[in-house]
This record gives sequence, structure tokens and C-alpha cells, in this order.
Amino acid sequence: SKNCSLAETGELLKAAKKLVIVSHVSPDGDTLGSSLALMHALRALGKDVIMNVDDDISTVYSFLPGIQEYRRFGADETIEADLLVIIDASSADRAGNAMEVVRPGAVLNIDHHKTNTRFADYLYLDSDAAATAEIIYALLLEMGTEFTTDIATCIYEGIYTDTGSFKYSNTTSKTMETAAALLKHGVNPSLVSDNMELRSRSQVEMLRKVLETLTFLKDGKIAYIEIAPELYDRNVDTDAFISYPRYIEGVEIALLFKQPEENLTRVSFRSKEIDVAKIAVSFGGGGHKKAAGCSIYAPMKEAEKIVLQAVEDLFV
Ligand code: 5GP
Ligand code: MN
Ligand code: MN
Repeated sequence: SKNCSLAETGELLKAAKKLVIVSHVSPDGDTLGSSLALMHALRALGKDVIMNVDDDISTVYSFLPGIQEYRRFGADETIEADLLVIIDASSADRAGNAMEVVRPGAVLNIDHHKTNTRFADYLYLDSDAAATAEIIYALLLEMGTEFTTDIATCIYEGIYTDTGSFKYSNTTSKTMETAAALLKHGVNPSLVSDNMELRSRSQVEMLRKVLETLTFLKDGKIAYIEIAPELYDRNVDTDAFISYPRYIEGVEIALLFKQPEENLTRVSFRSKEIDVAKIAVSFGGGGHKKAAGCSIYAPMKEAEKIVLQAVEDLFV
């Protein structure tokens, strides 16, 4: 794929009349906020923009301006477009079925994962960016977009999510300067955090059961939790659960296992320092140094055995 500068990325977007913007599966605040900010900016230029994600969207994101614009594609649908834009996804599988459904003139990928597989025709990759939303901010500045409160809120949401609300090591002075600029464009930070911190009762009740599975290996350097298949509920957002093992004293790598389908296990990795993206990549996944994930096509107990062995081997 061709590496693009910010200016070239802006030119590609401006040259297209009809665009499909795709957020990655298991959508988070960064992929959704980044995609929606771009949608608002392109629609203001009179572009025809279709929004797609091949997954359910958690109701915690309902407050994001424009979220109702997302639609899923049927497997036998075909959609013509000038440009297919894939946001915050480091590999083609993260884009879901859009790569098959859409017949684009070209594919553009905007991303910040160092594990990016360069699957698109055009790539804007900045692995130093804390969030893809930080890239979108710079891109819209470059394109001369007028920053409405809606656009600013979507970008803020992306940065808020990927920096763990401005706490993680990817938070830079640039992150804070961008956030300050977004507040000047009308972002209400407590609206964002009130929505993002809100827990449903079923979520907390599930957490209570999941914490009972907490297990330590290698002298407490590894900690993992699991969501039993009979407990799994796709409508309950469990993204925050892994912070419990992650922040335990002495833990270097934390894992969360869940089994969304009979022969599919999703694994989340978090670390304090060790590069877990490497482990995730070795299982066909990806991510960042301290936060990564993968899918294993096996039942949960089987997947746990394989993955935990690989993680334990890091501590020989
Ligand atoms: P999470 O554990 O929250 O699902 O994901 C943590 C990080 O790893 C995110 O940045 C996410 O984009 C990345 N990630 C998670 N699962 C996968 C996967 O299956 N493939 C790839 N390429 N990246 C993943
Ligand atoms: Mn993401
Ligand atoms: Mn991201």
C-alpha cells in the first residue's frame, strides 16, 4: 500500500463524491468517534457518505452525534463507491464484511496501530498518535474543516477512549493541546465522562461473577479472568473488566477470555511494560504495546491453554 501524507489523504477524500466509512468490529470510542467526525466533515462538503460497522454498537455510545447513521451490510449486498475509508483498523478482518460488499475505486486506511498489515491501497499511519481521533483532528485542520461542537465531541470521545481518559502513557502534551482546542469548540467533558463511566446493573452483576474467576500464574506476574460461556451476553459491555487484573500490584500481563461463539474465543491482553502486541500478532491479532487482542478459533478452555502457555513462556 502507498503511504500518504496528511495533505494527500485530504486530497483523496476531497476527490471522492461517494464514500463508505467503516469502523472496526468490536467498535470502541476511537473508531466510532473518528469515523463520525469524518462523516460530519465530509457531509458538510456535500459528499454522499455511508456509515458502516459489521457489529453491534454498545448503547454507551448513543450520545455520540450521528451514531444513528450506522448500518450493517447484508452479505449479498453490493455497494459502489469512489472511496472506502477504514478507520482505526490494523487488518482487513477488523473491517468486517465491507471489504467484500463495497466495490470501491480505492481503499484508504487511517490508523495508529504499529501492527498495521498495510492491507489498503492508501495508508495514513501514525503509530505515535494516541488515538486515530488525534489523526482525524490534524486531518480536518489540514482540510480546512469548520469544527462544530458535534465534530469536536466525536474527536474528543476517540482520544478520551484510547488514552483511558488522558491517563495512559500514550497521552502527550499534543493530546492535551488537542483536547483544549476541542473544549474551545464546545465539547462538554462531563457529558462525555458521564456517558462513558455509566454502568448498567447487569454489567456490575456480571463483573461480580467474573472477578471470582481471577487466577494468578508465575508468582502473580500473570493474572487472568474469564467470562464463562453461559454468562456471556453480547448486550453487556465488558471492555472495562480487564482493568481489574491489569492494575493489581505485581501483575505484568493481564488477560481476559470470553467465548462469543461456540468455537470462537476472544482474548484481550494488557500489560504494564511488556509488548503484548507481539503475542497478539503471533495468534493472528494485533494492537498496541500495552493493549492488544486476538481471536482464537477454539472453545475457551482450549484457547486459554494455548495462550497462557505462550504468556508463561515469556517469564522463564
Ligand atoms: P481489546 O482488548 O480492547 O479488544 O483490544 C485492545 C487493542 O488491540 C485495540 O487497540 C484493538 O484495536 C486491538 N485488537 C484487539 N483485537 C484485535 C484483533 O483481533 N486483531 C487486531 N489486528 N487487533 C486487535
Ligand atoms: Mn479501536
Ligand atoms: Mn484506536
